[in-house]
Amino acid sequence: MNKNIAKYLVYYPIQFLRKQKVWKYLSVVNDSEKRNLQQILNERNKKLSAIVHYAYNNIRYYKELFDENKIMLSEEITENEFRKIPILTKHKIIKNEQSLTDQKYKGKIFHRKTGGSTGLTLHFSKEPEVLALNDAIMFRCYNWFGIEIGDKQARFWGVPVTKELRKQENRKDLILNRIRISAFDISEEATIKQYNRIKKFKPAYFYGYTTAIYGFCLNVQKLGLDLDELNLKAVICTAEKMYPHHRKLFNEVFKCPVVDEYGSTENGIISFQCKEGNLHMMADHMYIEFLDDNDQPVKPGESGRIVITDLYSKVMPFIRYDIGDKGSFSNEKCHCGNELPLMNIMEGRTEDFIKTKQGKMVHAAYLCYTLKDDTVQEFKMYQKSMDDYTIQLVKSPAFKENSEEALKAKVEYELGKDINIKFEYLDKIPREKSGKLRYFVSELKKQ
Ligand SMILES: [Zn+2]
Repeated sequence: MNKNIAKYLVYYPIQFLRKQKVWKYLSVVNDSEKRNLQQILNERNKKLSAIVHYAYNNIRYYKELFDENKIMLSEEITENEFRKIPILTKHKIIKNEQSLTDQKYKGKIFHRKTGGSTGLTLHFSKEPEVLALNDAIMFRCYNWFGIEIGDKQARFWGVPVTKELRKQENRKDLILNRIRISAFDISEEATIKQYNRIKKFKPAYFYGYTTAIYGFCLNVQKLGLDLDELNLKAVICTAEKMYPHHRKLFNEVFKCPVVDEYGSTENGIISFQCKEGNLHMMADHMYIEFLDDNDQPVKPGESGRIVITDLYSKVMPFIRYDIGDKGSFSNEKCHCGNELPLMNIMEGRTEDFIKTKQGKMVHAAYLCYTLKDDTVQEFKMYQKSMDDYTIQLVKSPAFKENSEEALKAKVEYELGKDINIKFEYLDKIPREKSGKLRYFVSELKKQ
């Protein structure tokens, strides 16, 4: 569909009916990113006070929480007062879904849920205005790379299993001028089919799970297919951390910027990479903290748990929500001229740790650096017990007779030599329901 038809005759009218007037917020978000850092932070602090007071006055969960913890709030909340608010976790949301939601809210509400790649599915509610604002923020970031509303998108994503849901998604894809490339099937045959679909559709950009785009790229390279004539504006990778081996291949295959997006289903984009390659935080619309294990702020450059406060969601406020990732912030300024502050994602989900017999915790991302070499196309590791591991592998053509031994030695380097590793060779690693590849699964009982 033509870009302008997609924008003015399909997307805008539908958003209007859904009360998600994205255009109302576009100028707001575009203006706010042009401000200097001090102005951005001043504005943000005002919004922070407003939402915390709102939550106390309207949401049972926060009223009880603040009262129990004797949290007194000044009109303009101080950092000290704010830091007394206990952290909101995924488990707490699941347990307190009712009391966290404004039961008296009269306006239109959309109910959503997260994909649950960590094993937990959250149900949450949003006002249409907040969804519209999140979309406006998304388009502002995409526009850093010249992507506009209505531009065609090839989306590397999960495909629903049931017919009913598939129909629903097809409709959504049509409205949003995009085609869906299944993240589940990245065989060579599927790649050829998808490649032809993509060439016919002529997308302006790619968007999707890092591992799905990576799998597609591996085959594109192997089959000698050419993506150059698409003249893509950008490739936006999301939902999974981009590791050096991903970026290396992307740079070989794509002749356009490859961009990292960091966000969540619950609260939209948290940070987005600019042309200089730095991740800018959406600090004008979100309060983002980096905390240590005692919930104290870490210093610049130090790794901390990423904890966010959504400054707008009223029907179900997210205040000091531990999103389950680790990252660090920086006080450095970016050369791109945008003063939104910078951050880095350290590793994936914080619950992804390998526990060794010696009591060591090894981040599962370690496997990306050991099991992911030239001999391996894809991998997944299961920790069955403290001693027993199963590694599923999809071999690459470079896999040799002694490759297994070499991989084993690399894994043992951190996990210890006295462990049992069973190798299984597959043609393809099954994806999660969402289409994401979860490369480490711990079957140890949670303590
Ligand atoms: Zn920048």
